[in-house]
Amino acid sequence: MRILLVEDETAISGFLKEGLEEEGFAVDVADNGKTGLEMALDNLEEYDIIILDWMLPGMSGIEICRNIRKENQKVPVIFLTARDTTDDAVFGLEAGANDYIRKPFAFDELLARIRVLMRGTKGENSLFRWGDIVLDVDSHRVTKAGVNVDLTQKEFALLEFLLRNKGKVSRRTRIIEKVWDVHFDYDTSVIDVYINALRKKLDDKNNASFIETIRGVGYRINEDE
Ligand code: CA
Repeated sequence: MRILLVEDETAISGFLKEGLEEEGFAVDVADNGKTGLEMALDNLEEYDIIILDWMLPGMSGIEICRNIRKENQKVPVIFLTARDTTDDAVFGLEAGANDYIRKPFAFDELLARIRVLMRGTKGENSLFRWGDIVLDVDSHRVTKAGVNVDLTQKEFALLEFLLRNKGKVSRRTRIIEKVWDVHFDYDTSVIDVYINALRKKLDDKNNASFIETIRGVGYRINEDE
């Protein structure tokens, strides 16, 4: 899950980036309006959520939002705003934003809005299943046969990615980009370490692993039988 954050106050963007990454999101930050719009338009298909500050050097969040909406109606947009009249909020929503949140806000409040929007716009359930394994995005929990399984953040993010792409092969380079947020040539062997951890925690002892290795390409969780 990839987020674009356009915010010129580095204290806020740093804090949000760190918090969102801890929650398993990949976060790109732009510190001015022009760069923000460029990044958004260059990678529109890649972003699952765009968070725009209202007042930005170069170009306002409103303008960025209008330009994004010319290209893409679907990507959820949240405004961060210090303004606090109802008119301004309406103005933001008219520009095509899905939601807004007033500064100062609690991180958990923003996170809750993000999760609601991601579920709503994709029309998807927050539950992903394979056999007796259930991953719940909202509560950030994984159970097997109804029993909680402790996963690290990266294990969770990797499992979520594979489950979202159930039935398809997830290429190693794609996994490293989406789950580790690394875009340059990078040793992908770290993936194997995490796949092994997931298998150890979630495989049935007597059956083949629920995560299939596609040699030289990547991994796949097959559709349930
Ligand atoms: Ca600002």
